[in-house]
Amino acid sequence: MTLAIVTGIPGVGKSTVLKILQKMSDNVQIINYGDLMLEEAIKRDYVSHRDEIRKLPRSIQLKLQRIAAEKIAELKSPDRIVIVDTHSVIKTPFGYLPGLPFSILDILKPDYIIAIKASPKEISYRRSLDPNRRRDIEEESEIERHLMFEDIFNAAYAAYINCMYLTVQNEHGKQEDAAKKIFKVLSGD
Ligand code: AMP
Ligand code: MG
Repeated sequence: MTLAIVTGIPGVGKSTVLKILQKMSDNVQIINYGDLMLEEAIKRDYVSHRDEIRKLPRSIQLKLQRIAAEKIAELKSPDRIVIVDTHSVIKTPFGYLPGLPFSILDILKPDYIIAIKASPKEISYRRSLDPNRRRDIEEESEIERHLMFEDIFNAAYAAYINCMYLTVQNEHGKQEDAAKKIFKVLSGD
């Protein structure tokens, strides 16, 4: 089994690219980390919308994060390319929360960490088009910082677990190309 963690800051088009990737092969299993956290958060009456999770107290986010990782460990099926759709850093009202602390990486043990990237301008535009989300307003300079933090955190994660790190650009209208790039890397293992 190959396990890849795919990160991307909100609005980068990560879920769109992964939907395309899913259609490329029956051998690909995509697990959305936020879905698992939300399921648990709703069950416990903490939130009613996914964009409220990052505003919960830190200790509760950590609890949900751990429960989700344990669920992923159970969901992983051998002989498949398993992709975990998540965030390397979550911008909370009280600072950047590591999405993949070492205790979580110890559970998931990824072979790859892949960050999907786009320009701050493009991200800002994509966020404005998504009516289903309650995304925070960020200036382009803040988006740039967020993208930089993603690299810094991902570098630490990759060094800790000793896995590959790569970034893939999701350029305007080229979601298909981004999906193909990821698929090529993961099927070459
Ligand atoms: P998403 O739909 O991918 O934006 O995920 C919804 C929410 O789930 C995010 O805004 C975070 O609050 C939470 N989330 C997703 N992945 C993680 C993670 N690895 N650690 C902590 N929170 C996460
Ligand atoms: Mg998403």
